[in-house]
Amino acid sequence: MSLANPKVGFVSLGCPKALVDSERILTQLRVEGYDIVQTYDDADVVVVNTCGFIDSAVTESLDAIGEAIAENGKVIVTGCLGKKPEQIREAHPGVLSISGPQDYGSVMSAVHAALPPKHDPFLNLVPDTGIKLTPKHYAYLKISEGCNHRCSFCIIPSMRGDLVSRPVDQVLREAEKLAMGGVKELLVISQDTSAYGVDVKYAQHEWRGKTYQTRMKALCEGLSELGIWTRLHYVYPYPHVDDIIPLMAETGANGMRKLLPYLDIPFQHASPRVLKLMKRPGAVDKTLERIQRWRSIAPDITIRSTFIVGFPGETEAEFEELLDFLDEAQLDRVGAFAYSPVDGASANALPDPVPEEVKAERLARFMERQADISAAKLEAKVGTTQRCLVDALDGELAIARSMADAPEIDGLVQIQNGFMAGLKPGEFVDVEIMGSDEHDLFGEVAFDD
Ligand code: SF4
Repeated sequence: MSLANPKVGFVSLGCPKALVDSERILTQLRVEGYDIVQTYDDADVVVVNTCGFIDSAVTESLDAIGEAIAENGKVIVTGCLGKKPEQIREAHPGVLSISGPQDYGSVMSAVHAALPPKHDPFLNLVPDTGIKLTPKHYAYLKISEGCNHRCSFCIIPSMRGDLVSRPVDQVLREAEKLAMGGVKELLVISQDTSAYGVDVKYAQHEWRGKTYQTRMKALCEGLSELGIWTRLHYVYPYPHVDDIIPLMAETGANGMRKLLPYLDIPFQHASPRVLKLMKRPGAVDKTLERIQRWRSIAPDITIRSTFIVGFPGETEAEFEELLDFLDEAQLDRVGAFAYSPVDGASANALPDPVPEEVKAERLARFMERQADISAAKLEAKVGTTQRCLVDALDGELAIARSMADAPEIDGLVQIQNGFMAGLKPGEFVDVEIMGSDEHDLFGEVAFDD
């Protein structure tokens, strides 16, 4: 019998939620004694975790499957595109198995069939926190699966089902282990973070001798006990979001904010009629007043949002309403997409599609308007001192992020004297900001005289 461990290659595509699925599968593979290898040549079988959200993601996923078949031959497909097995089989009839998102059991069965595990109990030594694909000092914390909403442009509920919240004590215990393992920043993810616990009627559980509700605010209070950064993603503008803003202004015993003053809150549009057509959850009116109120409580709050332009039926006047909203809201970070029909979405049946060239023109106008706002927001930070978390060293520079920067989607802080200051990844440091461009900040560690 061969002494070598069976070897699995892994390709992880898609959003942070898919990344968490990949981490779970990788953890299970390691528990069962599989080695995870970096090249197709070294792998005995390859798992591809796909994304199927928009057409370009489908193409990227199908290309990745094709590459894995060409380079290795033995390919197991999972993830969101796995909900459309016929599409995968049509393009790549040779795949060994297809399963949908979070179907860890099917992936493991397919791996067992293609490549039986080697039985060795001493191989079962993996950290409790599992295998992480992110650097050691930050981690995604998934608090729920699925979604109870039915936004007309989205097919996630049909792929991932209704909301299922993880019990709050389970989430807090996972967060605690991550913090003990060296994680300095938790990125809370779900499809709708503000809906956390609705499905379990906010059930109460004990953690560290205290009772917590399975609810966004209680979760944030629990996470604030860990004394590290906690960043919330995918929060929808429900009234109870106001309840967590005071935590963003409060400082804990170790000088760290109890909750990062950062909200990733996808508004998608500003016209009430378009929002209704989109069937968006949350309050659609008084958004501007609420943003002002949040800023009066936590003045340095960073608001990141995403928008769709050219949604079916969007008139020029409604689009201009959106531009006016940008001017008034002065959001820090904004992503925008031209509407693109997703197979199976109910918005496809809406009348008055916006012509492609009008969509492209509106997207360009939107991005131009926001670019000036984002650049001015960054420029206003020149001369301030920002608490940053170092991600990496690059020659003389340290690459870090401030409280305003989520990994991968926001900007960076380049610390010019990072190497000289002896900075290391995962370290917090106060940086004097000396310059800015459209996306990033530049600064130096302040040395005492
Ligand atoms: S809230 Fe809307 S966009 Fe988000 S996952 Fe649910 S249905 Fe999709």
